[in-house]
Amino acid sequence: MRINPLIIKSVRLSAVAVLALVCLTLLAACQRDEEQSAELFVFGTIIEIKLWGASNEEASHAFSELQQMFQGMHRDWHAWEPGRLTAINKAFEQGDTAAADEDIVEMIRRSQVIEELTGGRFNPAIGALIRLWGFHTSDYPIVGPPPSQEQISAILDLHPSSSDIHINGLELNTDNPAVQLDFGGIAKGYAVDLTIARLRSMGINNAIVNAGGDLRAIGTHGDRPWRVAVRKPGGGSIGTIEVQGDEAIFTSGNYERFRLDNTKRYPHILDPVTGWPAKDIASVTVISDEGLLADAAATALVVAGLDGWPEVARVLDLTQVAVVDESGTVYLTPAMELRIQFSGDVNPVIIKVIL
Ligand code: ADP
Ligand code: MG
Repeated sequence: MRINPLIIKSVRLSAVAVLALVCLTLLAACQRDEEQSAELFVFGTIIEIKLWGASNEEASHAFSELQQMFQGMHRDWHAWEPGRLTAINKAFEQGDTAAADEDIVEMIRRSQVIEELTGGRFNPAIGALIRLWGFHTSDYPIVGPPPSQEQISAILDLHPSSSDIHINGLELNTDNPAVQLDFGGIAKGYAVDLTIARLRSMGINNAIVNAGGDLRAIGTHGDRPWRVAVRKPGGGSIGTIEVQGDEAIFTSGNYERFRLDNTKRYPHILDPVTGWPAKDIASVTVISDEGLLADAAATALVVAGLDGWPEVARVLDLTQVAVVDESGTVYLTPAMELRIQFSGDVNPVIIKVIL
């Protein structure tokens, strides 16, 4: 379903289908003079890339390079399909040294800082907990009761943390066998950053990389800014934002991926302290200059909840944040209020939050 030309709904595909569907479609080359676009599939999500002002040749070269890049990310960063990350997790479990690559090392280093700053609300070392909840799947919703408190406590008692990982060049090891990496809260952000960096290295300076509403843009769409929709809990959008130069906009929510037990929903963002899904926030949208930070921060702010998010936003140095609670009330920082153009049919109760 298309919400507007710049937003595509993320599509969950089975693991096998994802690999089979890694494909490239050149869509707009003949529709508009200056806009070129492609849709690539990675991590079960369609990533739409639009370029402005590139020649046909530049665009098709860029899209095929990016397709290869995404295939590599899918292979190396996937939390449960066998690849580099699952090999690292296996080595951690067995107390062995694991071979990483520069991108994984970068995600670990950045995660260690963000985990510390967010008081452990963002924690990519809780892969065992995420697996226990059944969230290592592309097929949502998962149906059935939650895991037992005993099972949850057995993992929490070992306090898995990204700070338990020792980095030596491209080699990793840990003394904590409960450490299992899951980059689900950060990988899309980093992928988008790497995509923008690659486009820039090719001399492309007007582009948008949009992974189901999580995106980063550079430059402009001709003589106007890139304009994007802000995802709304439950589908659709609450409004639009005009991107100013180089910015990343990420939304995390509890409404798309969850476990369903009769009528009770258990969303896929877990509070690493309790081991249970984060409560009371339906979605968080963050604008930052970097995808990795925006992605990790949006996840952390959902965990921080309605009482805790302003403090976590402050320590992460974020000024542009929108939070939607379960009843649809929108909490906005003053800087974010200046950015969102609410849709005509959305009439949110807006509460301003000074950080
Ligand atoms: P989405 O992009 O689906 O809206 P997020 O960016 O918030 O969601 O990422 C959610 C994913 O991050 C989960 O599916 C899981 O893989 C991982 N995750 C869940 N809870 C946490 C957490 N507290 N810290 C870090 N990663 C998490
Ligand atoms: Mg995230």
